Amino acid sequence: MTVQKNTARLDASPIRLVIHGGAGTIKRSKLKGEREQAVTQVLSESLTAGYAVLAMGGSSIDAVIAAIVVMEDSPLFNAGKGAVFSNAGRIELDASIMDGSRLMAGSVAAVTTIRNPIRAAYAVMMQSPHVMLMGQGAEAFAAEQGLEIVDPSYFYTQYRWNQLQKAIAQERVLLDHDVDPDTSQPEMGKKMDEKMDEKTDEKTDEKHGTVGAVALDRHGTLAAGTSTGGLTNKRFGRVGDSPIIGAGTYADNRSVAVSATGTGEMFIRTCAAFNTAAQVRLQHIPTTDAADNTLAEIAAIGGGGGLIVLDAKGNYAMRFNTRGMFRGTIGSDGIARVSIFA
Ligand code: ASP
Repeated sequence: MTVQKNTARLDASPIRLVIHGGAGTIKRSKLKGEREQAVTQVLSESLTAGYAVLAMGGSSIDAVIAAIVVMEDSPLFNAGKGAVFSNAGRIELDASIMDGSRLMAGSVAAVTTIRNPIRAAYAVMMQSPHVMLMGQGAEAFAAEQGLEIVDPSYFYTQYRWNQLQKAIAQERVLLDHDVDPDTSQPEMGKKMDEKMDEKTDEKTDEKHGTVGAVALDRHGTLAAGTSTGGLTNKRFGRVGDSPIIGAGTYADNRSVAVSATGTGEMFIRTCAAFNTAAQVRLQHIPTTDAADNTLAEIAAIGGGGGLIVLDAKGNYAMRFNTRGMFRGTIGSDGIARVSIFA
């Protein structure tokens, strides 16, 4: 764990930011030295950016955007620059955001030219009567809103291109961090892991992922956001859980803010983010147990991944049923804590 101290105005009302950068088969043996340091550095910068907003009395939604933009702009994560390629050799980005005080939400899916999809999701929430815009329509809307539009080549990284070639050769659709959902199906998890060990070389086994953030501001408002390139070698306009409100993202001041990462299809089928929030609100289950229950449901249908969860009192959980999850948190004390492995 890496700890970094920030100076801030302290206040009685708690503030908290929790982030993730993807969950999966993140192996200590494969993520070492400079790479681990670089990822840790970006996670710390993301926490510091979001914290700056919260410490100044800013809103949780602005903190979520600030934190996610740092990770979208880094080539180390599967969001914005450095996102994964689809089978057609395109980078199609998904993102969503939600404000827990009003149940307001916005999202974009399969966009290819918006530099920061999380900003586009926010614009959809604030400036349109809709919740979800996709493809060219979403891009036209983002341009109209004055968001930064880039050539698709901006998102390109050689590493991701190589990853696609490998996935095509193996006829596989890859989660960024391939998952070993071991809780209820250890054999399957083990087999997948062995397969990964056999089939992936040092290069393709590096782990960088979908990003997300949940925040609580001084006014007691929760917000959540998630941004991703989805799965390597995805086809036919595939959209995962990340831009779907209730699956990849949810926020409700009466319960929790949630952002998910993992095998998107199973997160959609279990309504993972809403499912977690509903347990807290209706059954008064603590954040950690609610996240674990949802992950158990996901594992039961063969999926895996992680959830970050934060309630209006500042209680939070960073849970995953995989080998690791890039994650971090910062609260009123201004100390940024970053972890990667279980
Ligand atoms: N959940 C994302 C998706 O299925 C992938 C990830 O979290 O890495 O699109």
